[in-house]
Amino acid sequence: MAQKSTLDRLKILADAAKYDASCASSGTSKRDSRGGPKGSRAIGSTEGMGICHAYAPDGRCISLLKLLMTNHCVFDCHYCVNRKSSNVERAKFTPQEVADLTLTFYKRNYIEGLFLSSGIIRSSDHTMEMLVETARILREEHDFRGYIHLKTIPEADPEIVHRAGLYADRVSINVELPTDAGLTRLAPDKNAGQIDGAMAGMNNAIVEAKDAKKRFRHAPRFAPAGQSTQMIVGADAASDADIVTRASSLYTRHRLRRVYYSAFSPIPDASAVLPLKRPPLIREHRLYQSDWLMRFYGFAPHEVAQAAGADGMLPLDIDPKLAWALKFRESFPVDVNRAPKEALLRVPGLGTRAVGQILSARRHRRLRLDDVAKLTVSVKKVQPFIVTVDWRPVLLTDRADLKALIAPKVEQLELFVA
Ligand code: SF4
Repeated sequence: MAQKSTLDRLKILADAAKYDASCASSGTSKRDSRGGPKGSRAIGSTEGMGICHAYAPDGRCISLLKLLMTNHCVFDCHYCVNRKSSNVERAKFTPQEVADLTLTFYKRNYIEGLFLSSGIIRSSDHTMEMLVETARILREEHDFRGYIHLKTIPEADPEIVHRAGLYADRVSINVELPTDAGLTRLAPDKNAGQIDGAMAGMNNAIVEAKDAKKRFRHAPRFAPAGQSTQMIVGADAASDADIVTRASSLYTRHRLRRVYYSAFSPIPDASAVLPLKRPPLIREHRLYQSDWLMRFYGFAPHEVAQAAGADGMLPLDIDPKLAWALKFRESFPVDVNRAPKEALLRVPGLGTRAVGQILSARRHRRLRLDDVAKLTVSVKKVQPFIVTVDWRPVLLTDRADLKALIAPKVEQLELFVA
């Protein structure tokens, strides 16, 4: 059979990669193209402007060349369009071809780096070798200093997985589903223990490398942007409370930089064990907000779960911080002129930046409602939960219809606005 053109393969393999949400180029070290060997200029940088962004069909912004090495796969994960029993058009690149594409796109300023994943071709070891070889060509043969995110394969030999960390800025290993039972049912070739072990190994290597870097200036860099993972939401019966608890345990045990939540989207030629409908995208958004609460607002996972209903699901019409505040009204109102930072961070409508500004402003004067209004998008949302010099909510916080008073109004979008 005739070999497909590069463009045709690019279309297939970039399209096949769009279901993976776990890429973001934040958090890596700053590098630029100055100071190559013998005074030459290297290629690529992790900073700078002029980077083009691609948008996945569901609106996510992607500034990397996001690609699968191949969409052939010997595994049969039910939720995946590339599974072996799926009837999709297949294609593959060699490591050299992916490296060449990355350099070409980079030099044209289309991308800021590469996100590379792959279906499992031949064996996990062979596939992981191909991913690592791509990164090696870029880094060693072309002195490429742009961002590289490699998806690693937990079933592969740990030594090969380790090599990925030597070339990549970020590595990721997908836990795929929030519960082990869900993984067994929907990804029968994968093993929860192996995934967990690979994440633990990667975390140890990252910690050791950081430690070595502190002691020896020339210690090799190892995944400086850390590791991340992705969970598919809505493909199994896991509730939001289950998902939040799992994410929290991953952050704590494996020190992940990010957990990405990807609302399951029905795929062409879907397996019969999958739900027919995708979960609402707003569910994914509420999970990201919960994630934020745990990482930046001091909420424990069980507190986020308390914001959920009896079925463990977070409300879709209001954000989880507001849902928590409405359930635990005895924690409010808080006095913006005296309350500790932890209490201010719990106030719906006050972000981390606003709280920082309140803390520094109140060193010099006592704050009024107008001062707080300048720091928030909606003072109406904040009012029932705070006390200022000139404002006290009195009975407002206890009103049965408080949610209706402050919840954002649902707007009917117009079809034909300009
Ligand atoms: S291993 Fe599973 S999720 Fe990954 S490409 Fe193959 S079928 Fe898809």
